[in-house]
Amino acid sequence: MADNNQEKKFATKLIHFGSEIDETTGASSVPIYQASTFHHHDIFNPPTHDYSRSGNPTRQALEDYIALLEGGVRGFAFASGMAAISTAFLLFSTGDHIIVTEDVYGGTYRLLTTVLNRLGIESTFVDMTNFDAVKAALQPNTKAVFIETPSNPTLKITDIATIAAWAKENELISLLDNTFMTPYHQRPIELGVDIVLHSATKFLGGHSDVLAGLAVVATESLGKRLKQLQNGLGTVLGAQESWLLMRGMKTLQARMEHSEKSARKLAEWLDSRSDIARVYYPGLKDHPGREIHEKQSKGYGAVVSFDVGDGDRAKAVLNRVTLPLVAVSLGAVESILSYPAMMSHAAMPREVRHERGISDGLLRYSVGLEDIDDLIADLDQALKG
Ligand SMILES: *Cc1c(COP(=O)(O)O)cnc(C)c1O
Repeated sequence: MADNNQEKKFATKLIHFGSEIDETTGASSVPIYQASTFHHHDIFNPPTHDYSRSGNPTRQALEDYIALLEGGVRGFAFASGMAAISTAFLLFSTGDHIIVTEDVYGGTYRLLTTVLNRLGIESTFVDMTNFDAVKAALQPNTKAVFIETPSNPTLKITDIATIAAWAKENELISLLDNTFMTPYHQRPIELGVDIVLHSATKFLGGHSDVLAGLAVVATESLGKRLKQLQNGLGTVLGAQESWLLMRGMKTLQARMEHSEKSARKLAEWLDSRSDIARVYYPGLKDHPGREIHEKQSKGYGAVVSFDVGDGDRAKAVLNRVTLPLVAVSLGAVESILSYPAMMSHAAMPREVRHERGISDGLLRYSVGLEDIDDLIADLDQALKG
């Protein structure tokens, strides 16, 4: 007989997450509680949810769902990935210092350097593939370390367990943006991280039709503090979006498996071409950090970056491809091709961009669910010109 208490596998948890059947009606999906407030039937015995900024049953189902998937104690849903990240950063106060991955997501960089700096929250950007550089950035007022791995768009790998253990030793809170890997491929809390963050707009939502952010904490005390901030700042996700996100998340594993398999093929095909200057993909044999990545992740993800040589050729390829969406963003059912130099990293000074490998010829391909042979044939004709 099967042991019912045995921990379920990830694919099963995606479908049977606890709220998949409505307890009152047996409905096959979580009801959308489109209500801002809740009646107090008995004034001495207030309802579980009393106002939707503080708590909404649809959002709660999503928050419990992501906590289960990441293996944390409590989840939180926000209006966007940046709403999740900025709310988490407000755990810190004037005079605090944070160590941050140097090639962190552009929006996170902007938040730290144009908003949080004004509030007296200081940050140092370091190459986190270099543990000595991380250690050297420690100051008496350092309170946190913010990791993103693989990073964007050159997919640099940070050793999560090493940095998280070092953070604990130094009484720092460790935060990790897990957008690129998702809990299917990488579960940072199991590696010692305190707070996992997501732009659920990407792979978790998966259909380029919802903007959302998620956070999961490893301890009750962090959960209490983040709850206070989420409610106090009002950065919450609405009921409709919460439902839409759960709808997308149920197919996460099926989508990630397909896209990852295709991304590997695409990376190898690009790598075999003599007219491609460089391919960045953690699954390639010579990718720096590949061994560390394999130790901490169950897959290589669905994003492949490659350098076609120069800006003119990159623009020509973008104009000639017929299948991928040419756009900012990633992680959807449709493939998305983006041009970091003019999109996500346009605000970065050219020299800084080049130093970080974000050359004028660099393209980033987020592989969707199309047939990989068609995607390759399409890119082939676009590269030939
Ligand atoms: C898109 C993205 C974000 C920001 O999320 P939004 O939902 O756009 O606010 C943060 N981190 C990473 C890695 C992203 O790709």
